[in-house]
Parts: sequence; structure tokens; C-alpha cells
Amino acid sequence: MILGVWCRNVELRSVGLSIRQRIAVPRNDPRYQKPWRKVVSRCQYLVYSCHPAASAKAHPLELRRALAALSPLAPMIFATSPLCPSHDPGPNHPEKVARYHSVLDALQAADLLSRSTRIEGKPASEEDLLLVHDAAYIELAKREIQYGYDHLSTGDTQVCAASWSAAQAAAGCAIEATEAVVKGPHKTAFCLVRPPGHHASAAIGMGFCILNNVAIAARYAQRRLGLERILIVDWDVHHGNGTQNIFYHDRNVFFFSTHQSPWYPGTGRASETGEGAGVGTTLNCPLPAGSGRTAVFSCFEKQLLPAMEKFRPELVFISAGFDSRKGDPLGKFELSDTDFADLTNCVREIAAKNADGRVVSVLEGGYSLSGLASAATAHVGALL
Ligand SMILES: [Zn+2]
Repeated sequence: MILGVWCRNVELRSVGLSIRQRIAVPRNDPRYQKPWRKVVSRCQYLVYSCHPAASAKAHPLELRRALAALSPLAPMIFATSPLCPSHDPGPNHPEKVARYHSVLDALQAADLLSRSTRIEGKPASEEDLLLVHDAAYIELAKREIQYGYDHLSTGDTQVCAASWSAAQAAAGCAIEATEAVVKGPHKTAFCLVRPPGHHASAAIGMGFCILNNVAIAARYAQRRLGLERILIVDWDVHHGNGTQNIFYHDRNVFFFSTHQSPWYPGTGRASETGEGAGVGTTLNCPLPAGSGRTAVFSCFEKQLLPAMEKFRPELVFISAGFDSRKGDPLGKFELSDTDFADLTNCVREIAAKNADGRVVSVLEGGYSLSGLASAATAHVGALL
């Protein structure tokens, strides 16, 4: 823990740091001579000594980042957009607007957002959407929404006039959270977005999904941020068929899913393991209705953890669906709020070991308003 910060020429309070304890380092101390040197004293203080010449050049933001990167207090990114609740499939639809507000209210009530850095995601550009989706599908979806269709012709996704801008904003939040986590100092992010994304493939919107938010952010991390190997963990009760399809031939994106089977959308058999160069980087764990902690954790511990020893991801995404919580109207799993916190910690362990701790979580399903709120709160609590 950073308890003290000492710096010669930069007024730390001016860059928003709260100094719990100031530690003076004398001019003849060797620490003083080495700019940006980290020293851990016997008292377990982290002291940054900054040479006058170096500190004069130091940009306040750089200083803040350097400190936050090493502090356990580095806040989580919380990414959302006011456009996300404008997507309205109707009050009787399970993926209703109230889902957004129930999560937001619960996170605020639990005082988790005051400990997060909030990002308002800009709508993703068409260029970014093309990282994953076909140009013809983008045009089709935009046109159908513009013409007032009440659902996409490609699948079971209800839409309204605001749905395209909401979908772009959801993808944009995932992209910006990913960029913030990869560039640091933040290690984790939670994206409160809708519509969800994991059923959308390159050319088909379905299952309440228009654009595949996680897939777009994963491709963005590869193509724009220079990362190579990415893990996507999908614990939604439904199989993330869209994400699987998009990366089925890709050796550098590992897709892991625990889901109810048989259940919508009917994919995700254990025998689906990838094709071509992607053989071995799809890992499906179909589980029967009624499965809970024991079955799901067994998949994480006995299958995912060993696979990650070999794959060694540089960044981890969570397709965070909470319809695998007990009591959800669209699933029959039995996971508890504590289980979601523990699953989050399991994913964070994988990230800590391989990916410098970087985890980006993006909301997918979850259709009991109270269950969604409490499970998401437990999850975000474990991301902080
Ligand atoms: Zn789902």
C-alpha cells in the first residue's frame, strides 16, 4: 500500500493524490538521486523519490498513473452510457430498460461507484464495428431500425428507434474500458451496457443482441492496442454462440463457456472445440438444469485453469450474464451472489498470473431485476 509519497518539485495535491503520510528523504539519501525509484522500507512504505530534474519534467498525469498502477487502491473503470437505457424492447420483454436502472441503483446503494473511475463511452465508430461485423449486416440492422422494424429480420431481437445508437454506445463502452485497462493504471473494468452482445455473430443479430460488444472490444485490443492472446469467459446461462462463431477459427482468442444444456440457443456442445487454426481454443462446458456452484466451479478449476497455463492470455474478458443466478426466469442454474464473487476472483487469479491483472467485464443477461442487481453488485465488489 502506498502510505507515503515524496517528490521534490511536484505538488502532489495538485494532481489529486491524497497523501496519507509524507516521508521526507534527505538530499544525501541515495533514493533521492534516482528518479522514479521505488523503495520499500522496513515499514512497508512505498516511497517515490524524484530527482528535481526529473520531477520538473514529470507530467502530473504520468505521476498519477505511476502511483495508481502500484496502489491496491487503483480504482476500477465503470463504463456506461446514457444511450444504453434508450434501447426499449418493451416493458413486457425480459431484456427491459429497468435492468439498467436496477444495476445502477444497486451499485450506487452499495457505494461501489464512488470507488470507481467512471467513463461515459462514446458510440463505437463504424470502422470499429467492422472489426467483427460484416458491412452488409451493419447496413441491414441500421436500415431496419431506421425503418421502424420492431425486431431484426436476422433473429429474435426486439428493437426501437433508439436501438442502433444504444448498441453503438454499448460497444463503445466496451472499447473504451478495454483501452483504459490496457493502457493502465486501472486493472479492471465493469461495463453496464445494453443491449447485450454474446449471441450476435458477424452477420446475425439474435437473442436480444445486435452487436457483439465483447468480441468488438477483443478485436480492438488485438488490432489497435497490440495484444495477441485474449481469453473470454462467458458464465451467462445461455451459450455465447455469437462469440464462439466469431473466434471459432482463431488460435489467439480463447472462448470458455459454462451454460445450461439443452437450452437456448442450442449450441455449445463439449465437442465444439474450434476449427482449423482455432482447434483447442474453444472450451464448452454444457451443464444440466439445476447446476450450481459445484458443477460450475469444477469446470473453472479442472478445465479452464489448466488450459490457461498453456494459453497464457494477455487480457481477460468476462461475458457477465447473471441469468445463471438462482431464480432467474430465463435459466435454471443455482448460482448465488457469493458464487459470482468467487468466480470473479477465479478469473482475476488467471489475469494476475498471466495478464498483468487485466479484466474487462461486460454485462450480458440477467432477467430477475432483484437477482441481477444483487449478483452484479457481488461481482463488481470483487472487481474493485
Ligand atoms: Zn443469457
